[in-house]
Amino acid sequence: MGNRMKFYSWLIALLDHRRLTFEEITDEWSNATANPFGHPRPTMIIALMTSYLARDNPTSTNKKSCQKDFSPTSWRLLNKKVVILQENDNKMTIYPKLITDALATVTYPGTKKNLVESNMVADNIRIEGNKVSFSLIFPRDTDPFIKSTLKAAEATLKYKLGEDVEVHISTEFTSAKRPEPDKLLPQVKNIIAVSSGKGGVGKSTVAVNLAIALAKLGYKVGLLDTDIFGPSIPKMLGVEGARPYAVEKDGRQLIEPVEKYGIKLLSIGFFVNPETATLWRGGMATAALKQLIADADWGDLDYFVLDTPPGTSDIHLTLLQTLAITGAVIVSTPQKVALADARKGIDMYQNDKVGVPILGLVENMAWFTPAELPNNKYYIFGKDGCKNLAKEMGCPLLAQIPIVQSICEDGDDGQPAALKTDTATGLAFINLAQAVVTTVNVRNKKLPKTHIVQVKNEG
Ligand code: ADP
Repeated sequence: MGNRMKFYSWLIALLDHRRLTFEEITDEWSNATANPFGHPRPTMIIALMTSYLARDNPTSTNKKSCQKDFSPTSWRLLNKKVVILQENDNKMTIYPKLITDALATVTYPGTKKNLVESNMVADNIRIEGNKVSFSLIFPRDTDPFIKSTLKAAEATLKYKLGEDVEVHISTEFTSAKRPEPDKLLPQVKNIIAVSSGKGGVGKSTVAVNLAIALAKLGYKVGLLDTDIFGPSIPKMLGVEGARPYAVEKDGRQLIEPVEKYGIKLLSIGFFVNPETATLWRGGMATAALKQLIADADWGDLDYFVLDTPPGTSDIHLTLLQTLAITGAVIVSTPQKVALADARKGIDMYQNDKVGVPILGLVENMAWFTPAELPNNKYYIFGKDGCKNLAKEMGCPLLAQIPIVQSICEDGDDGQPAALKTDTATGLAFINLAQAVVTTVNVRNKKLPKTHIVQVKNEG
């Protein structure tokens, strides 16, 4: 029973059966500890009585005169009025339009329009007494607004139809379900994670140039900037302003990767202002990353290159739980501190539970050769650090890339060095790509397919 109904029955009991005076009734109301409607509100009953009496006798508008004038007849009349109100209340049956009208006041953040205008209310509204059930149709099961929209719809229905209405809302989706992690990207042959222990060692530069060089060798290549908190790939490829659009594929709405220099690429930088991404909580970042992988139309790829964030993080864990990574390429400078961190990165991939093979190391900023002294090599960060680490770890040294001013400038200009195969640096990246192809082939012959890391209670 709703609170209003409880109020009426309580009032009638007092009026009819106990014939209490006004004073007694208001006292009873105020002192009722086990009040049937939770919050004693004497003003409510006083207002009801006063307004009733005022209609018959315009001078009786205050509590005092109300008490005086409240004769047994007035009580009976008031009782009648209460009965009428009670009957009206009983007549308030729920019907579908009441529900759709209420849902038309709930905004869906995805369209910024209400649920009815957004065509989200399914044609299956069922009403049985005070039980209401229906479905809301969301674009996809990964919609970030599902929970909040369901909550808002339920709260609005209870507010409009009464707290005692039981609301059951189920969900439907216009697009087909996202495949399970081990069934994702079936047309992608090899997935390569480019990693570094430290930031600033040139990992993104290597990832971008490796992807372009692989495409130059004739392979189908995808590049994913998984550095959700500091995406730099759109700038390095001169596509900062690109806004990928959605395509319909197999009943799902998929993000179409941007194509540049013969590679398909995606970055969170295409969807959000990079400055706001740094404020994201872990859950938002991993959900966004999963979308870039699972809800994008990557199609046929020979190599899917992942530019991972520096160090080890939740993002790495998400990648390992989502994709069977063929192997990792570790980028480091020859400097001791960078090498120490590179070792940690290697350990992460080689951990028993992870088991991602290390394809090899790339020594970036291996030396500096000034343009005016082409035969001189200056080992600014130390000599052969990565070469020695590779030997120690028993994995190949895939390339040594010198510090070249143009690598930095080309990255800033959105024209990566690997585009110019007639230059020494362009050639260095082509050789790197060739070395990666060879090691991947060897790896695929010798080792079984990597398994996705299984984690219980995954969020
Ligand atoms: P990370 O991804 O490891 O943080 P970046 O690839 O963003 O590093 O590189 C950091 C900076 O160093 C960039 O400005 C980049 O252009 C520059 N850089 C990287 N490798 C070289 C190189 N071999 N020679 C000159 N500059 C380089």
